[in-house]
Amino acid sequence: MEENSQKHLAGRRNFIKGVGLTVGGTMLSSPLFGFIPGDMGWGEGNSKQKKLGIALVGLGRYSTNQLAPALQETKNCYLAGIVTGSPSKAEAWKKKYDIPEKNIYNYENFDKIAENQDIDIVYVVLPISMHAEFTIRAAKAKKHVICEKPMAINEEEAQRMVDACNANGVQLAIGYRLHFEPFNKRVMELGQNEVFGKVQSIEAINTSDMTGGSLDVWRLDKERAGGGPLMDLGIYCVQGAIYTMGKPPVAVTAQFGEVTHPAYFREVEQSISWKMEFEEGVIADCKTSYADENGKSTLEGQAENGWWRLDPAYVYEGKKGQTSKGKMDLPNIYEQVRQMDGQAESFRNNEKSIVPGEMGVRDMKILMAIYESAKNRGERIEIQY
Ligand code: NAD
Repeated sequence: MEENSQKHLAGRRNFIKGVGLTVGGTMLSSPLFGFIPGDMGWGEGNSKQKKLGIALVGLGRYSTNQLAPALQETKNCYLAGIVTGSPSKAEAWKKKYDIPEKNIYNYENFDKIAENQDIDIVYVVLPISMHAEFTIRAAKAKKHVICEKPMAINEEEAQRMVDACNANGVQLAIGYRLHFEPFNKRVMELGQNEVFGKVQSIEAINTSDMTGGSLDVWRLDKERAGGGPLMDLGIYCVQGAIYTMGKPPVAVTAQFGEVTHPAYFREVEQSISWKMEFEEGVIADCKTSYADENGKSTLEGQAENGWWRLDPAYVYEGKKGQTSKGKMDLPNIYEQVRQMDGQAESFRNNEKSIVPGEMGVRDMKILMAIYESAKNRGERIEIQY
């Protein structure tokens, strides 16, 4: 049996609620300084309130296989519209999901979405270099935005996205689905509430072949992807380490891995390993790669009096977890349903999402520091927030 940490959780939540720390006028908000594991933003659904209409922008694999099916089960939001560059996809989706013609846009006429009362939320599911443009255009159309991870190709772009949403009075949330998922939430509790004592070390690995055996994919193109597996997969390790600790790292060091598939990895790294250093010297050892036939997806923590391990940790389905006290007895859920319901609920209530744009900016700062270190042969890069 795993130790029940609910009592620690309740105590911490009450503590956090009562504290309004500021440093230099900046609120020490959860995006930078940790998360409160619990039921905030969980979004179980409230049928008395209006369901918000979501328009998916970019109908690629993630929209097709995960988000659109999930939107058939959500209680706080529904698939109201689509934005696509492909007339044949528009036709197929229109039929499949019964989407009215007036709710179908292409990338050119997208700004007319401002006049569409059916659309409350624009969900940006495009190659990374297009996230900023479509988030900013959606904000100007006065729509709330969910933007996929990583938020942008660099920190400056990410900050402009947050600024645009603030300037237009709309909310911005990042597609960090694992904050709505029981196994990763358990890790947040175990680490942040010191259920097994203070965390001593973390290991996080996320590797997968995301090329599908093709050279012609945006993920290998630096201009559209911003970088390689660190941007796409490594961000889960960065997030995992931070939500274990409840605070971001103070410094990073990193090394690019060997290139064994030069035809594929001409522009972006094939693999990269890095260390994140937290206050009090806790180290998170992390690795990501696009060239690993036996993809790995793990998040481990070692604490003073015990340990935990998720394997797999970041995949959509079939998560498993273990602690030094036994198996984690938790359900596998449809996490995109929980994520979008949670985000829609926070938008509806005009509350900041538990995964706000500011969290995405923070993560971009860390990803850029990791690249800077790797480019400078593992130089230790301190990070200021
Ligand atoms: P994909 O390649 O399958 O889809 C990309 C879509 O963008 C396609 O419909 C394509 O037609 C469209 N597009 C428009 N302009 C394009 C251009 N210039 N080049 C290439 N495609 C263009 O990608 P995906 O796997 O669906 O990823 C989309 C986004 O979703 C990325 O930001 C990715 O990181 C994110 N994602 C998140 C998760 C998650 O678990 N949260 C999982 C997968 C992907």
